[in-house]
Amino acid sequence: MIRQEILKNIKRVVIKIGSSVISNRDKGRSSLECGLSKDWVRHYARKIKQVQDKGYDVVLVSSGAIMAGRERLGLSRADLSIPEKQACAAIGQSFLMHTYEKAFEKKDIKVAQILLSNDDLGNRRRYLNAKHTIEALLERGVIPIINENDSVTVEEIKIGDNDTLSATVACLVDAQLLIILSDVEGLYDRDPSLKKNKGEKAVLISHVARVNEEIERTAGKSNNRLTVGGMYTKVIAAKKTMSFGIPTLVVNGLDEKVLENIFSGKEVGTLFWSGKGKIRGRKHWIAHTLKPAGSLIVDAGAKKALVERGKSLLPAGIIKTKGEFEFGKAVRVIDETGKEIGRGLVNYNSRDLEQIKGMKTPAIKKMIGGSFYEEVIHRDDLVIF
Ligand code: GLU
Repeated sequence: MIRQEILKNIKRVVIKIGSSVISNRDKGRSSLECGLSKDWVRHYARKIKQVQDKGYDVVLVSSGAIMAGRERLGLSRADLSIPEKQACAAIGQSFLMHTYEKAFEKKDIKVAQILLSNDDLGNRRRYLNAKHTIEALLERGVIPIINENDSVTVEEIKIGDNDTLSATVACLVDAQLLIILSDVEGLYDRDPSLKKNKGEKAVLISHVARVNEEIERTAGKSNNRLTVGGMYTKVIAAKKTMSFGIPTLVVNGLDEKVLENIFSGKEVGTLFWSGKGKIRGRKHWIAHTLKPAGSLIVDAGAKKALVERGKSLLPAGIIKTKGEFEFGKAVRVIDETGKEIGRGLVNYNSRDLEQIKGMKTPAIKKMIGGSFYEEVIHRDDLVIF
């Protein structure tokens, strides 16, 4: 029922294809040896053409660059250095696109490559530029194929995984559905691969209405060498899209009929959908696209003012700062129990904040003199979760 409702409202869909979905793993190779499977890429070109023929705009987020490059270079070691991985990404990305291009050409569809980095997405102007480019491509029936710009981004500033990237892209292009094609059926109530679960069968969760701590725990962390994400990053990605009002489906992309099943309203995979989204536009970007550079721990009084009265955050309510950050950066706002209550853009760098934390406005005036920001985070730049 919910799925039918969602399908009725779709105009645009983002499909994320994981490395394991387009790998030639089925040919008996270990995860470190396998490369790109042209057959699977062709398969998805055919299936995506069918989705496009239904009148939907399709944006693809595809992994597989590092995997493809690794195979081409014959590097099957687990411990590749960062430059080696980046070299693999550079070689693999062009091969990946070449393979997609050839497969889609057979279906008379043009494709375009877009490589994004955190720097692009964290800058509001560049973020909007990317949006306009994608719009222009979709207007012409071109399928944008997006990946992270792996060969130039270093580990600390990476988006890191394409689940997160696909959620950001879904919000960027205002999609009505994000489909994450993975190599598992969806989210289970316990890890189906763990030995200690033998006897107690893991059950697939068909619908998650809220991503709470229990769901995050259930998702666990990945131990798959081929993919970066695992279920945890998928759940966090779904949390992002849900708060924007976009449903997310995590399904098994190795099931050849999965896209048909989704679009005929069958109950496949796990649907993450709360019914409606709360935050949009710039505030969503602050909360879910920007990488927090640090944290502010606030006292109970400040928490109440922020959460219940919709106020700005003042220096007086800050107990502690964590991390080093500059003016204008995104930071987490944490309560005394360690729970994150929101995120916002700071009007002070961490060094100055250390000086004025806990102080009332007149005292700051006396200390600094001249003009200064009364708010550490103005309510217009603050998102409460
Ligand atoms: N961007 C990486 C690649 O193309 C994949 C990241 C991921 O699998 O999440 O190889």
